[in-house]
Amino acid sequence: MTLSTILETVTKRNPNEPEFLQAAEEVIASVMPALERNPAFAKLKLLERMLEPERLISFRVTWLDDKGEVQVNRGYRVQMNSAIGPYKGGLRFHPSVTPSVLKFLAFEQIFKNALTGIPMGGGKGGSDFDPKGKSDNEVMKFCQAFMGELARHINHRLDVPAGDIGVGGREIGYLFGAYKKIKNEFTGVLTGKGIGWGGSLIRTEATGYGLIYFAENMLQNVGSSIKGKTCLVSGSGNVSQYAIEKIIQLGGKVITASDSNGIIIDESGITQEKLEFLKDLKNNRRGRIKEYADKYKCVYKEVDDLPAGQAGKADHNPLWNIKADCAFPCATQNEVNAKDASNLVKNGVKLLAEGANMPTTIEGINIILDNGVMYAPGKASNAGGVATSGLEMTQNFMGSNWTREEVDAKLVNIMKGIHDTALATAKEYGKPGNYMVGANIAGFLKVAKAMQAQGVV
Ligand code: NDP
Repeated sequence: MTLSTILETVTKRNPNEPEFLQAAEEVIASVMPALERNPAFAKLKLLERMLEPERLISFRVTWLDDKGEVQVNRGYRVQMNSAIGPYKGGLRFHPSVTPSVLKFLAFEQIFKNALTGIPMGGGKGGSDFDPKGKSDNEVMKFCQAFMGELARHINHRLDVPAGDIGVGGREIGYLFGAYKKIKNEFTGVLTGKGIGWGGSLIRTEATGYGLIYFAENMLQNVGSSIKGKTCLVSGSGNVSQYAIEKIIQLGGKVITASDSNGIIIDESGITQEKLEFLKDLKNNRRGRIKEYADKYKCVYKEVDDLPAGQAGKADHNPLWNIKADCAFPCATQNEVNAKDASNLVKNGVKLLAEGANMPTTIEGINIILDNGVMYAPGKASNAGGVATSGLEMTQNFMGSNWTREEVDAKLVNIMKGIHDTALATAKEYGKPGNYMVGANIAGFLKVAKAMQAQGVV
């Protein structure tokens, strides 16, 4: 079995699934040395098995909008791998959601969850429903209809969804309420719940904070730190907001943010006060980022067909063409393409750590690595969110709540653990400093050993 035979089989089996094939290709190429060292894994076809979802559920979601018109959406849950724990992974509500997108996310989730050290399998789900422009009532109606079917396939010991793009605190609340009503039980079946009804402190902040903890570990490893660094952040949602907040707290300067309409460039730096405005704009008023530029009189660029790496008209994203030290893509997949990567290198960027899932294309990653830029793959650097979801599950099982300081300290430790594991594994496999290879192999080995022990199932 060679790299090309596995790739050929997976490509044949998953036609028209470019995102899934992209995620698969990156992992397959990285873990080949681990398969060569462990011939039993190859014989048991463990990688081939990981590439096949244990279960893929697709269902119709029918609901009534505010005008009384019937709306029809598609819902999905991909239960990818349960070798080391219950399926765990977010729900995404966005018009771009397809089985390919959810399979790529669920596949990445297997390795990410393994790296956290918390027993969680990999899953992902969502819908092509677009919460943008919908009233609260419509979002609630949709969530109730969606959960009407999903509730048959999840429970707190089997599959525990969380949020992702388009699914934040409001949606988790409606989904949880619907589940509780249908099942007549109060359990920790979802994470990202509100504080006061089973949620964990720091869960909202965890992905963004964890990303910056990870980047700080990378910088400290080469005798540097985020203090005084100029940073580019994309997006303005959950991950971006708390990545920006932690960079500010650690003494760095963030000069960009974006949404699907445009980017802001604030050379004077986003302060905590400006960030509070951005949080209110995005989380409460659900407005566009242009308002930030209008209020703080900074540069705003409308962006045509973001992300640049997808089939849009633009060949690059101007957000990645600014002088800076560090880059943190935190919006969506393929937002950093080959041209963007070259622009980052040209502008002196020394570190790229992914807050989003698969924000960098394979060509982009190669340019970043070939030019000696430190690179953290999302499955390692954005694992703080799911890790804290794991901590939320533990607190739910125990029936108690940890303090903010306790959860934050655990998050700091988990991110350091993932960093050190990825670094050590990369070195062991002859690729020192390559966090992508280290993370893929370390995650793979953990899941592979569990699958081997559990037999051919
Ligand atoms: P949010 O919905 O809170 O924010 C997403 C942000 O990205 C928004 O600013 C949105 O703009 C922008 N965006 C979304 N889609 C596109 C697109 N196609 N083109 C350009 N901009 C886009 O999501 P999250 O912050 O939760 O998630 C962001 C990324 O982080 C995703 O890749 C997600 O999978 C990943 N992630 C999230 C975790 C979490 O805990 N939430 C955990 C680990 C990874 P607009 O406001 O216009 O929609």
